[in-house]
Amino acid sequence: MSEPLLKVRDLTVSYLIKGERGRAADNVSFDLHAGERLGIVGESGSGKSTLALALMRLHKPPARIEAGSAVLDGTDLLTLEGEALRRFRWSQISMIPQGAMNSLNPVMRIGVLMADPIRAHEKGWSGDRIRARVAETLESVGLNRSVADLYPHELSGGMKQRVCIALAIILKPKLIVADEPTSALDVVVQRKVIETLKDVQKQIGAGLIMIGHDMGLMAQSVDRLAVMYAGRLVENAPIRRFFRDPLHPYSQLLISSLPSPDEVREMKGIPGAQPSLFKLPSGCAFHPRCPAVQPRCKVEEPLSRSITAERDVACHLVSPETADV
Ligand code: SF4
Repeated sequence: MSEPLLKVRDLTVSYLIKGERGRAADNVSFDLHAGERLGIVGESGSGKSTLALALMRLHKPPARIEAGSAVLDGTDLLTLEGEALRRFRWSQISMIPQGAMNSLNPVMRIGVLMADPIRAHEKGWSGDRIRARVAETLESVGLNRSVADLYPHELSGGMKQRVCIALAIILKPKLIVADEPTSALDVVVQRKVIETLKDVQKQIGAGLIMIGHDMGLMAQSVDRLAVMYAGRLVENAPIRRFFRDPLHPYSQLLISSLPSPDEVREMKGIPGAQPSLFKLPSGCAFHPRCPAVQPRCKVEEPLSRSITAERDVACHLVSPETADV
């Protein structure tokens, strides 16, 4: 297989509050190939949004990157500073932040908003060239080019979210990070917006990291799924395999909590709640909720390991020998 577009290794992001340290991302490692779509799911507080912000270097104190690397096409994002970071952001890696559609500047026309990142990165571009890129990008996300003349309040929620996608791809980045890109939209509009995001990502050949908690949406949208629990990636697998045969007990519970149109089965909730990052249980952080817990789980943290070339799991009970892969 070709070299990954993005290699994240042992990325650790902590919050230091009142002398207490909580790890929102704990030794997170994964690869993403060009054109690939990776979904990252987890309950609120699992660390998935912190991970997205850290990759963009948009995390704010008290969050702090403690360790690790995130190499995008040969450049470690975590070592960039100042002008080099500013130039890299949006041109190489861009983000659709959570609630982006509600943060469009209400007093600026869409065309002006979209021209902004081009002017900041492409100093020599003429006005005509910028307008042409804005029009072409609007059309690529399914909007009429005349939307450039409108203000955000004149657009529906779905149109505003398409504008946010257009903003993220206007400089044709290599990697797009989308944090809950459809959270405020109704189900029908959600599907259309996701289709648009997939189309434009394919057109520009970018990698896509999609953060969310809607497993159904993920099932239809991504190539691989990574599950976060208490700051750790507990399973990372190709999407079909994940849904057919989840290996981590938490993944199994996530799937059994979903309705299935194909079979009548009991839907199970996941008992308990995700622990505070500042008061993690000993050993495996999932052990108080795990139906398969063993004495060892309470004292020894399971490390993520490769079960096959394309699948990683962090659980004492899962190994290449025990897993039916
Ligand atoms: Fe459950 Fe133990 Fe696996 Fe943790 S390590 S998920 S507690 S079986």
